[in-house]
Amino acid sequence: MVYEYVLAGVLVSLLSSVFFLIINTTYSEKKEDVANVSETGVFLATEIEKSTDVVIVGAGVAGAALAYTLGKEGRRVHVIERDLNEPDRIVGELLQPGGYLKLIELGLEDCANESIDAQKVFGYALYKNGNDTKLSYPLETYSSDIAGRSFHNGRFIQRMRERAATLSNVKIEQGTVTTLIEENGTIRGVMYKNKAGEEMRTYAPLTIVCDGCFSNLRRSISTPNIENPSCFVGLILENCELPHANHGHVILGDPSPILFYPISSTEVRCLVDVPGTKVPSVANGEMAQYLKTVVAPQVPHQLLKAFLAAVDKGIIRTMQNKSMPAAPQPTPGAILLGDAFNMRHPLTGGGMTVALSDIVLLRDLLRPLSDFNDAPALCDYLESFYTLRKPVSSTINTLAGALYKVFCASPDLARQEMREACFDYLSLGGICSNGPISLLSGLNPRPISLFLHFFAVAVYGVGRLMIPFPTPKRMWLGARLIVSASGIIFPIIKAEGVRQMFFPATMPAYYRAPPVHRRIETRTKLKC
Ligand SMILES: Cc1cc2nc3c(=O)[nH]c(=O)nc-3n(C[C@H](O)[C@H](O)[C@H](O)COP(=O)(O)OP(=O)(O)OC[C@H]3O[C@@H](n4cnc5c(N)ncnc54)[C@H](O)[C@@H]3O)c2cc1C
Repeated sequence: MVYEYVLAGVLVSLLSSVFFLIINTTYSEKKEDVANVSETGVFLATEIEKSTDVVIVGAGVAGAALAYTLGKEGRRVHVIERDLNEPDRIVGELLQPGGYLKLIELGLEDCANESIDAQKVFGYALYKNGNDTKLSYPLETYSSDIAGRSFHNGRFIQRMRERAATLSNVKIEQGTVTTLIEENGTIRGVMYKNKAGEEMRTYAPLTIVCDGCFSNLRRSISTPNIENPSCFVGLILENCELPHANHGHVILGDPSPILFYPISSTEVRCLVDVPGTKVPSVANGEMAQYLKTVVAPQVPHQLLKAFLAAVDKGIIRTMQNKSMPAAPQPTPGAILLGDAFNMRHPLTGGGMTVALSDIVLLRDLLRPLSDFNDAPALCDYLESFYTLRKPVSSTINTLAGALYKVFCASPDLARQEMREACFDYLSLGGICSNGPISLLSGLNPRPISLFLHFFAVAVYGVGRLMIPFPTPKRMWLGARLIVSASGIIFPIIKAEGVRQMFFPATMPAYYRAPPVHRRIETRTKLKC
């Protein structure tokens, strides 16, 4: 009897072990399936991450150029762009020669040629109180094709999108990205609404956010500090010749600068700066009135008729000018680029040059990596990007911010002296015009050169005040001029980061090696 109970007990425990084993195996198989399927039933993470290397948000200047560049490097790229129609905007119409050189490095120079009726730009003409001076880009040492380019921004972007779309490993999709997908502090991809309005997700080991100046995604991966110094009011002038063909024209106007430059063989763009965040209303005619009464009297006489005709035509566009130093929060799996990352006043037309220069740098940094799957290691490595980009970006940013302040009219006598001194310094020619214009053009973006020229202008201004002889009043004004100049440039330099700007080689991030190499190094060290 006892023997039968023992046998039954052994059998029961054996059967229950088999039962639990079966249940457990089935359950864990199910668990694996669940991990790969989202609540919406879309196949997720691991599988899809394997089919895309990079998700790019936005196919504007930065996103389109980046998609082509990474695609050409053999990366599998998924671009999501809110509107794939040709943009019609007043931004990004003059590419500096330094930016054009970057476009060549990316193999995209034919996106800014005759096929979009792009115009070559050889320098600037500066106007103040009826006087003018011409500043030519120092292009003597370059081939004849190298110059600035001006064009319709939409045509340029559309060409770059088309080029990217020719690559079989680049997928460009119309959709609006709503959120970055984050998992334990790592960005895994994005959620977006596709053209049909459906909620979609896409995953990749690296997400690059290029959603422009109004970015609503940048907050997740940076600490933006945005300033809105002024607005640009845009008009297109037809049937007119610029006083200096193939040159940008800057009028040191009152209250602030007015720009003219060609954007096709028949059209000239006019951008009127209006300080502050509010502009006169276009709808009720206040803007037309402002342009006719305040701006028109300052327009060079060769352009006046076309300017008034453009005002009467009524196609007047406005755009807020923003400035934002780069303030990255290195985040595994994601990086910001273009205006989403860093902005400066558009007076000097430097935004596209910075974006293209960043793309060249990022491409070169990513090149040694076979994949981007080790997100923390990649994030650590890409910190070098923020330092290596500084000499170019900080020079262009600082120049834009400083020049805008110097070029604005002011009731302050010291600021007026600085503006006069700047115009006269640039008119001196030689190194006094070559130096600043090569900084502006992006051909020689060296922070120290910018700093020296800026203070040379201030010292030149003080020197002028001492002639024919110094009086206490003039000496006091000279001292105020130096203080005012310092008050303009030092806050901008501080925001850019003094050490990163002037001594990037002292930053540890400057020397980061690609994770693959570091892994090899670590392994070698361990063996030793
Ligand atoms: C008035 C003005 C004039 C300027 N003039 C010049 C100039 O002459 N020269 C110069 O070099 N720079 C100029 N700039 C700066 C220049 O325009 C920018 O630096 C440049 O366009 C930045 O490129 P980007 O790709 O970052 O942004 P953009 O070119 O604006 O592209 C952003 C893209 O992202 C898309 N997008 C936005 N949100 C989403 C989303 N949620 N999902 C999907 N897609 C999205 C947009 O549709 C757009 O296509 C000017 C700026 C202003 C304001």
